[in-house]
Amino acid sequence: MYAPPVQRLITEFSKLPGVGGRTAQRLAFHLLRSSDEDALALADAIREVKERIGLCEVCFNLADGPRCRICADERRDTETICVVEEPSDVISIERTHEFRGRYHVLGGALSPIDGVDPEDLKLAELFGRISDEQVREVVIATNPTTTGEATALHIAATLRDRAPEVSVTRLASGLPVGADLEYADELTLGRALAGRRAV
Ligand SMILES: [Zn+2]
Repeated sequence: MYAPPVQRLITEFSKLPGVGGRTAQRLAFHLLRSSDEDALALADAIREVKERIGLCEVCFNLADGPRCRICADERRDTETICVVEEPSDVISIERTHEFRGRYHVLGGALSPIDGVDPEDLKLAELFGRISDEQVREVVIATNPTTTGEATALHIAATLRDRAPEVSVTRLASGLPVGADLEYADELTLGRALAGRRAV
């Protein structure tokens, strides 16, 4: 139906989350109408982010060097680690200004049905950090979903076994159940963080 380059662009857009066929087509036609300069700026931005942004070697947050800005910041409290599923959750929690520790980004949540097992997440790296660094508290801020809860339970059970001296807390209730952290407003998330409880 379309010239192959147009079809290719529509196909690539339709792989993006939340973009269906019609939206993919609309975006493609928008770019075809745009100036060369605007369209190529988008292509360059995609290329630059893929070339320059990687994962922090300590916490697996997004980083434009070996370490992310939070791990590189010496004013952050090193005794508290907040465990989240995705880099976007770090942003959500930072916006609350309630947390001064460091993070650990798992890269997802446990979901045996979808084939996500402990070794698919950065769990071994988390437990390694907890034994190497002087960590006093681990705040589990996985999403309040079935998979997020399963992940929280797995971490809490492993730490009870391997590092019983570390206090393990979970965000307080009040977060919308079944939704992702990134959709919680700052006030709710800040309160959930301040009211975290031991697990
Ligand atoms: Zn980091």
